[in-house]
Amino acid sequence: MADAKGIYILAELDEGLKPTSLTLELMGLGQRLASDLATDLNAVLLGSGAQAAAQELARYGTGEVLLLDEPALSGYHPEIYIEVLAGLLRSRPPLVLLAGHTSMGQDLLPRLAFALDCGLVSDCVGLRVEGEEVLFTRPVYGGNALATQRVETPTAMATVRARVGDAPSPAGTAAAVIPLEVSPPAQTRLEMKGKEVLSGRECPLEEAPVVVSGGRGMGGEEGFGQLREIAALMGGAVGASRPPVDSGWAASTCQVGITGKVVAPDIYIAVAISGSTQHLSGMSESGKIVAINKDPDAYIFKVSDYGVVGEWKQLLPSFTAALKELPKV
Ligand SMILES: Cc1cc2nc3c(=O)[nH]c(=O)nc-3n(C[C@H](O)[C@H](O)[C@H](O)COP(=O)(O)OP(=O)(O)OC[C@H]3O[C@@H](n4cnc5c(N)ncnc54)[C@H](O)[C@@H]3O)c2cc1C
Repeated sequence: MADAKGIYILAELDEGLKPTSLTLELMGLGQRLASDLATDLNAVLLGSGAQAAAQELARYGTGEVLLLDEPALSGYHPEIYIEVLAGLLRSRPPLVLLAGHTSMGQDLLPRLAFALDCGLVSDCVGLRVEGEEVLFTRPVYGGNALATQRVETPTAMATVRARVGDAPSPAGTAAAVIPLEVSPPAQTRLEMKGKEVLSGRECPLEEAPVVVSGGRGMGGEEGFGQLREIAALMGGAVGASRPPVDSGWAASTCQVGITGKVVAPDIYIAVAISGSTQHLSGMSESGKIVAINKDPDAYIFKVSDYGVVGEWKQLLPSFTAALKELPKV
């Protein structure tokens, strides 16, 4: 295997085939690491119709944007992605490969690390260069402590949470976009039958600027209807703590926390949520936190910027009415 060099970002695209905000944050983080290690920043992009996204990523890199643009790559398919990426990274091993701590990143990187015999640190909340090595920080013990880890294999892989990297600024020189001459495997054991875009009860939480979450104190599915209305009025998404998900009041895709999604919206509204460490792990980086809880001693108030003590059934209707009065911008 060749010598490991360069920082590589595994890019993800949104439904509009643009790099996700997390991908851009990783490019910003990659710029910093690459500069500290005096190496190049590269991106790997697998997709279909991904040319424009590759050009956009090239503005932030200094090395290469490796692009495989194939109809078979229009959605994440683990077997195809592993085969293509493992082949690619064997011939160009990176010092560090970063992916978002997304559904795809969480599924793909452990498989890739196993295939390439590399160390992997998942769920990173901080990365920094010390001497000539990268140190990775991640929550442990249910979010009660942070561990800083080093990887001893020549290539290190990591999944990174949202808002760890800064919004990127274009690099001095643009990266070259290199089309890859790789044929995805024709035969796979896993067949994708279709794709369903979740809407209504479900929610694209990670990208939402406002998240309105409900907890066990909502008492049932009905209260989540009110949270959805508020989220829609604020241009946001609905989240939940774990009990409503376990009880079937909210979809599992809505769960925020250490075993759910990690979000960092501009505004996080926690309704009838006590503020367990497992829940806080998923939302404590939010811009402003607003809590509504009937218990004045609820822990959530300790981490909130604004708190309202009271019954949600009394508070939410007037809050909704006030939102409706606001002029549309
Ligand atoms: C391994 C593991 C992983 C976990 N992962 C997660 C995770 O990812 N996400 C997560 O959220 N949890 C997770 N949990 C569960 C976590 O420990 C807590 O049990 C959970 O977060 C509590 O949810 P809650 O705040 O909604 O419920 P509770 O702690 O029961 O709090 C309910 C709150 O609602 C308030 N309330 C009740 N009625 C009303 C009302 N009418 N009006 C206003 N306020 C009201 C109460 O005062 C209370 O503060 C995990 C647990 C374990 C062991």
